[in-house]
Amino acid sequence: MTSPHDASTLIDPTTRYPGPPFDTPKQSAPGTVQKLEPPADHGETSYRGHGRLAGRKALITGGDSGIGRAVAIAFAREGASVVINHLPSEQQDADEVVQRLEGEGATVRSIAGDLKDEAFCQSLVDRAAQAMGGLDILVNVAGRQTHQQDIASLTTAQFDETFKANVYSLFWLCKAALARMPAGSTIVNTASIQAYQPSDILLDYASTKAAIVAFTKALAKQVAQKGIRVNAVAPGPVWTALQPSGGQPMEKVREFGAQVPLKRPGQPVECAPLYVLLASNESSFVTGETYGVTGGNPLP
Ligand code: NAD
Ligand code: MG
Repeated sequence: MTSPHDASTLIDPTTRYPGPPFDTPKQSAPGTVQKLEPPADHGETSYRGHGRLAGRKALITGGDSGIGRAVAIAFAREGASVVINHLPSEQQDADEVVQRLEGEGATVRSIAGDLKDEAFCQSLVDRAAQAMGGLDILVNVAGRQTHQQDIASLTTAQFDETFKANVYSLFWLCKAALARMPAGSTIVNTASIQAYQPSDILLDYASTKAAIVAFTKALAKQVAQKGIRVNAVAPGPVWTALQPSGGQPMEKVREFGAQVPLKRPGQPVECAPLYVLLASNESSFVTGETYGVTGGNPLP
């Protein structure tokens, strides 16, 4: 395999990772990395750190799997202490991340709990800060996505849960984190290309992602004078358990990534460098922005 660490080796992005058709099994939400076929690349062997987050203290939601797992691996290898949050049913995926990173000498902990609960969001921030001796990075990656063909089949319960998990949790976590973050701290949210080019079958989900873009811009303006920056990453199709666990119909999972110019889905590790950049001091003049990682479909 071509090593991404050898900067003199040219890597063709179209063939670096698998493209459709995919034959991964259907899962029940929230899904697990264990059942993804082919397995996803979260940077386990492909991400190399360079001390860009040395000494930083990061809380990462959704850190058990997918993009959040890749962010956790990257941040730990860049020198940050890390606390990941996940749902209680995802303990196995979370344990795998913790064991791997502890084995590399990183300071990492997992805290299970449901972000749809305001009291849990507050206690998560408190416990994370306690575990790390402070908090100066909040990365909101957790999110849920359930496709529905028709507004008639979209229940109030689903609409509510999607907004609670994707938007309310952001409000609660940012509020709790900002109360203790020093100047120089950074928040990175996770939007989606769905905020700009919504699918008909993702009415509730796409709406939450558009809300996240506006939330990011407004909060960035609000906290700029405190020396805190707020940005977002907006992925296009990325190979994670989100899609075969109800995020898309299985016939769309089969062709996942075919719709972008690079003709394949991205891998979680390909999103991680943007989170590192936006969390680190290197992006000190960037705030209120949403950066795309889409395989070639422009955001707006
Ligand atoms: P994933 O399933 O691996 O990660 C999503 C995580 O969200 C889960 O692991 C779970 O821990 C967490 N989560 C969901 N509901 C929760 C709740 N109520 N409480 C606590 N945690 C909860 O999938 P992923 O694709 O890596 O998703 C990460 C983020 O990326 C999501 O915000 C998703 O909307 C966004 N995104 C994904 C894609 C894609 O194609 N995979 C594209 C654009 C945006
Ligand atoms: Mg998961």
